[in-house]
Amino acid sequence: MPSRSENRTELIESLMERFPNVPREAVIKEDLLRGGIAFDESALSDNEGGEVKPKSYFIFSFDHGTLPELGAAALRRPPEEIVLTGGPYELRRTVVSVRVNPASPYRVAADDDGVLGLYLDGARISDVGLPPMPDYYRHTLENGKSVMEVAPTIQWGYLIYLTVFRVCQYFGAKEECQYCDINHNWRQQKAAGRPYTGVKPMDEVLEALAIIDKYDTNKSSTAYTLTGGAITTQLQGKDEADFYGQYAKAIEERFPGRWIGKVVAQALPKADVQRFHDYGVRIYHPNYEVWDPYLFERYCPGKERYVGRDEWHRRILDSADVFGPRNVIPNFVAGVEMAEPFGFKTVGEAIDSTVEGLQYFMSRGITPRFTTWCPEPTTPLGKANPQGAPLEYHVRLLEAYRATMEANGLSSPPGYGPAGPGNAVFSVSSFMDSLPAEKAAPEDAVIPATPQ
Ligand code: SF4
Repeated sequence: MPSRSENRTELIESLMERFPNVPREAVIKEDLLRGGIAFDESALSDNEGGEVKPKSYFIFSFDHGTLPELGAAALRRPPEEIVLTGGPYELRRTVVSVRVNPASPYRVAADDDGVLGLYLDGARISDVGLPPMPDYYRHTLENGKSVMEVAPTIQWGYLIYLTVFRVCQYFGAKEECQYCDINHNWRQQKAAGRPYTGVKPMDEVLEALAIIDKYDTNKSSTAYTLTGGAITTQLQGKDEADFYGQYAKAIEERFPGRWIGKVVAQALPKADVQRFHDYGVRIYHPNYEVWDPYLFERYCPGKERYVGRDEWHRRILDSADVFGPRNVIPNFVAGVEMAEPFGFKTVGEAIDSTVEGLQYFMSRGITPRFTTWCPEPTTPLGKANPQGAPLEYHVRLLEAYRATMEANGLSSPPGYGPAGPGNAVFSVSSFMDSLPAEKAAPEDAVIPATPQ
């Protein structure tokens, strides 16, 4: 009998063989993202005092256990990302976001010479590089808060991730999206005694950005994302567009055109979307989460109740009039289509449904993108599906995504850095690793924002 872990090696190798057009790097990356990685103590960071850039918990936990279940990884944080190279599959440089799972068959550990590697079934399958501590993380704000807490960077330093509201007004089982642990993550970070600011004050955000601007001398940081939980009524006297938009306005006034401004928010009415644009945001992510109507209703009860799926989609299309279709990039959570008990039972049905959604948007010039579902254990879907979705779904999605994009004459969306295996830095799915390496066409360039 082959052991469980041997089956996992066989699984990735059989998928590499069946889908030769999907880069090998992407097969492994998807498996790491859906199932997590165990970390040997030799591969942990020493938090903000060490030489490795630690995992910042920038919005969700993206872990397969709660902090108390992670052992040493909760005390000496894992790295934010790892980069894979070489090994028997001859991997090109692949950046992977870190999702911790002490029970994973994948383990990052140092060998006898202290060289880090990724192991599967005890066999070394690639070299592992860790992100160095960026200079800007070594400085604190005047009030002592860390830059990592206020303005963490991900995607190997490309993206500044500004979760300015770290909880969601969709609250409880009847409203929260069924795969989302934003509210739980907030509670567990506070319970662990970590600083975790609920609403980030504007002056702290600007101060942290000034530190990044000063010390990021080779200008690796290219974009910022403003995001956080949904605002169903008001927050600090502002609606969602004004709340998130005020940060873009202040950032663009202080650092005009220094970064590409993006916002991840609800699909809002056109007048609100126009305000985002007026404030200086240049890329809008009104995430549609899952395409199938039956699943949307069950997985996103708050969004269904407050807005409704049809209206959500109408608003996405309308926002293309404001931002231009290339700059409207709605996300979906790849894998929840197959979650028990409501999801599709076969990979084929799940892919067909997902492609229907891709075609709906791509035929209108809007390019969705996806993150790979991490079944966090405190969410209803994570609890019921601790293994996540089948790896075959994720691999076939990469193939289907590229084919739908090409059939519609589109190329990789703006604001994600370089595409192609060996080049991509987008770390929470491998859609950028799986697209052809190409230079962005001039019309794809995002125009730096000028505040009105
Ligand atoms: S809207 Fe849904 S996915 Fe977004 S933060 Fe709230 S619960 Fe999470």
